[in-house]
Amino acid sequence: MDHRYGLMSSEELLEIYSLTKTATSVHRGEDAVIQSANRAMLKIWGKDSSVIGKSLLEALPEIKSQPYPEMFHKAWLDGKTCSGQGSPAELEIDGKISTYYFDFEYLPIKNGKCEVIAVLNSAIDVTERVLKEQAIEKAEKTITSLQEQKDMICALEETRKELHELNSELEERVERRVIELSESEERFQIMAEGTELLIAVGDEDNNRVYFNKRWEKVTGRKMEELLRKGWVDLIHPEEKQHFINAYKESFKKREVFNMEFRMPDSKGEYRWYLCQCPPRFRSDGSFAGYIASCLDITMRKNEEIRKNEFIGMISHELRTPLTSLNGFIQIMKTRLDTMNRDSLEHALNKSQIQINKMSKMVAGFLDISKLESGSLELQQESFQLEELLKEVIEELSFMYSTHKITFASTCSLKVFADRNKISAVMYNLVGNAIKYAPFGSNIEILCSKDEAGLMVRVKDQGRGIEKSEEEKIFGRYYRSKGSPTVSGFGIGLFLCREILIKHEGSIWAENAKDNGAQFFFTLPEHAA
Ligand code: ADP
Repeated sequence: MDHRYGLMSSEELLEIYSLTKTATSVHRGEDAVIQSANRAMLKIWGKDSSVIGKSLLEALPEIKSQPYPEMFHKAWLDGKTCSGQGSPAELEIDGKISTYYFDFEYLPIKNGKCEVIAVLNSAIDVTERVLKEQAIEKAEKTITSLQEQKDMICALEETRKELHELNSELEERVERRVIELSESEERFQIMAEGTELLIAVGDEDNNRVYFNKRWEKVTGRKMEELLRKGWVDLIHPEEKQHFINAYKESFKKREVFNMEFRMPDSKGEYRWYLCQCPPRFRSDGSFAGYIASCLDITMRKNEEIRKNEFIGMISHELRTPLTSLNGFIQIMKTRLDTMNRDSLEHALNKSQIQINKMSKMVAGFLDISKLESGSLELQQESFQLEELLKEVIEELSFMYSTHKITFASTCSLKVFADRNKISAVMYNLVGNAIKYAPFGSNIEILCSKDEAGLMVRVKDQGRGIEKSEEEKIFGRYYRSKGSPTVSGFGIGLFLCREILIKHEGSIWAENAKDNGAQFFFTLPEHAA
């Protein structure tokens, strides 16, 4: 082997070593006394060669609380290599402490006996790389966080959109509901204001919240007064307390409340009403108060009252002929052996009169009930009206000897009519003349012909008929003010008019020039 140049001196080796780019230093002893440090290491430390011979902490006191002294001890005392990648170190350079990063190693150098004779510290300054990595990592983190934020913003935007859609849908529904409610309220108001009924609404605490305008008209109270005071105080004293108690009870139980009562109109005249109050409930089932509708039932009620009076009167009217009939029969029974033929005939005639009266009455009632049920039918036939009138007058003269009945006729014509019904008309008219004209007065019956057909006039010498009542007396159950002293039902003339209308005839009443009333009826002439 040719050793042209010989071995290098230790100075030469150190010189080379000091020039190596990898920063190295050699330490010995527990205090890591610096044996040597190349330029690169001195540069890292920010020191000059004066640090050689000093302990590590004397040279670099700032690393005292950092892990490096301990690592050195591990290498020096335990003979273990300690290393790190990109490890941070706080170093004071030019009086300023900054963080630097190193790939480093504390390598124990051992002799043949495996004793540690020195520790070789090598370090590469990777500050730039680490900072770059950190910057990249930070940037990545920022990007991730920004990405996350972006995703969140997108999600938020989605949610916002959904919420917006939901909100607009909700707004739309609320708006629709409001429109529906106001429309239904409007509809209710239109209905409530356009009806003949009295409509009132109360809330769950029984406060008055609404009255339709009709209440003002009927009670004469202003709306403000109605809302403040109500109307129950107006109820007739006979029904008031009962009404209040029953209403309270229904209100407590949230039940339907119905009752009839009287209340004065604006002129102070009492009228009958039927009050119907169903409870109101909201869509969630909670009680919302009552809605009251009051219907004027005065007509129906009066009719009911009149009907009851009518039934009472029928019983009374039938009792009179029945009593007489009973009397005649009693007489005939007790005197059967002693009675002569004239007396017997007289009693029998009187009995027959009473029976006829009752038959006529019952026939009249039957006709009324048939009229009401719409089943009054005519049994029409062709006959001479004059003859029928004569028959009726004969019978009436026989029944009533109290008045003088005369008959005159200027024609002899045929009619196509229901004999029984026309004779019922005559019985009513002549019967009324007897009832309403004084004893002994004349009743004239005249039959004549005019352009409409046949006309019959029944004229009496009684009290006559007031002009204002000429039409009213043909109403059902109508009796004029002066009539109550005279027995009657107020159905006779009503029945006459209905019968004549069915025959396409007519009937009317007038006062006669010389006192008394006169009734006319016409029937169409029947062409033979
Ligand atoms: P009623 O005689 O049973 O009361 P009507 O229907 O026959 O019933 O008569 C109705 C009313 O017309 C009577 O209440 C009476 O006031 C009046 N009226 C009828 N006929 C006469 C008459 N000839 N004179 C005066 N008033 C009469």
